[in-house]
Parts: sequence; C-alpha cells; structure tokens
Amino acid sequence: THFGFKQVDKNNKASMVADVFHSVAAKYDVMNDLMSMGIHRVWKRFTIDCSGARQGHKVLDLAGGTGDLTAKFSRIVGDKGQVILADINDSMLKVGRDKLRDRGVVGNVEYVQANAEALPFEDNTFDIITIAFGLRNVTDKDKALASMYRVLKPGGRLLVLEFSKPTNDMLSKAYDMYSFHVLPKMGQLVANDGGSYQYLAESIRMHPDQDTLKSMMETVGFEQVTYHNLTGGIVALHRGFKF
Ligand code: SAM
Repeated sequence: THFGFKQVDKNNKASMVADVFHSVAAKYDVMNDLMSMGIHRVWKRFTIDCSGARQGHKVLDLAGGTGDLTAKFSRIVGDKGQVILADINDSMLKVGRDKLRDRGVVGNVEYVQANAEALPFEDNTFDIITIAFGLRNVTDKDKALASMYRVLKPGGRLLVLEFSKPTNDMLSKAYDMYSFHVLPKMGQLVANDGGSYQYLAESIRMHPDQDTLKSMMETVGFEQVTYHNLTGGIVALHRGFKF
C-alpha cells in the first residue's frame, strides 16, 4: 500500500507519520471512540491511576495529540503543578489546544511542538512522563526513550501506553482481522481516509512486543520496569522509574 512500511525507509517514516496525523487530526477523537468502542477511555484512566500524579507535579504528556491525558492531569496537579502537552504535529496540537480551552482546561497547561527524539527541556525536569499511543510512530524509539529518561527527575516515572501483542491466539487472529480489514474501511467511511488507518494497523503490527519494549526501557536506564496487559494484551501499559 501507499502507506506500507515495507516500501518506506526510515527517512520517509517521519514525513509519512506527519501526513497521517495532519490528515486525521480533525476526526481523531471520534475515530478513537469508534475504533476502540470507547475502550481507550478505560486504558487512559488506568494510566492516570498508575501515574502517582498529585498536586504540584510537573507532567509531560508526550505525543499528547488531542490532550485526553493532559486534561485529566491538569485537574490532578492543580494550580501549583504544570502539564506540558508536547507533540510533533501542529495540526494535532491545534485540535488539542482548542478542545481543552473549550472545556476550560487552562492555567496550568502549556503546548509545545517537539520531537520525542530530541526533547527541548532541561535534564531532570518532570515528575511524570506519559506517552500514549505515540511511541510506535517515533522513528528512533531508543533515542526517544533516552531523551525521556534525561528530562525525567530522579524518582520520576515514565508510563508508555501502547498497542502490544495479544496474549491469546484466537484473540490475536480476530484482532488482525479487525485491524487490517475493518479499521481501514471505517477510516475510509468516517474520515474519508482509508490509507491513514491502514498505516495505523501496520504500525501496530510492527511495534515491539511487551518484553522487547521492557528491555528497551531498561537499556536506556529505567529501573523497576513492569508492564500490565490490558484487554488481553491488545494494549500494554509499561512503567519504569529513574532513580
Ligand atoms: N496521546 C494521544 C492519545 O492517546 O489520544 C494521541 C496519540 S496519536 C495516535 C499519536 C501522536 O503522536 C500524534 O499526535 C502524533 O503527531 C504524535 N507523534 C508522532 N511522532 C512523534 C514524535 N516523534 N514526537 C512527538 N510526537 C509524535
């Protein structure tokens, strides 16, 4: 396919990802609800619950897109805290910023256009970093994880919420059917953009499995790395600490 990974080298990946998210930005939220049947809200809620966020914390919601996690963190960290929604894509940032401002999420939120591979923040800045459904789109994941480690405070934690490998064969087959056949059709119908959703399905297939991602996090320095499978491993939440 036009978006197929096999024909795309590393240099092209970044611009292809940019095209995908410019293209889906306006319909991103409605597609998320539709494609996951609303379950992404549960996965995100679980991420917040595992984050240890409290008043006064400084949080980086990386690849934050339309800001679902940012909105939740903003309420928790309060006036003395801060949430930075960082995303490489200005269309996604704009949709996110407009949505959160409409909902009155203001005061402690900042928006920064940034590449996860080279974060424009000082060392030891954040208590918590989250990256939800973002890491698989990043070209150099090791570089991005190292960058996250650098800007995290000692004692801070990283949470990676991402599609992963279903733990059961039956589920895995059903899920492949769904993501390769139903998802692009849905994308075509609702967002008039089957190609982007084909890319999303392929990027999910290519993403490192649970144990591979765990060791990638350990390699850049994260400690006490654990993961929790959600919805039979369709999604996993990885958590690691910097000490
Ligand atoms: N976190 C949001 C959520 O869970 O709904 C948005 C996830 S969306 C599937 C992926 C986001 O990753 C997009 O907004 C995209 O622009 C962003 N992204 C892709 N590559 C990136 C990079 N290298 N650095 C920062 N953000 C990136």
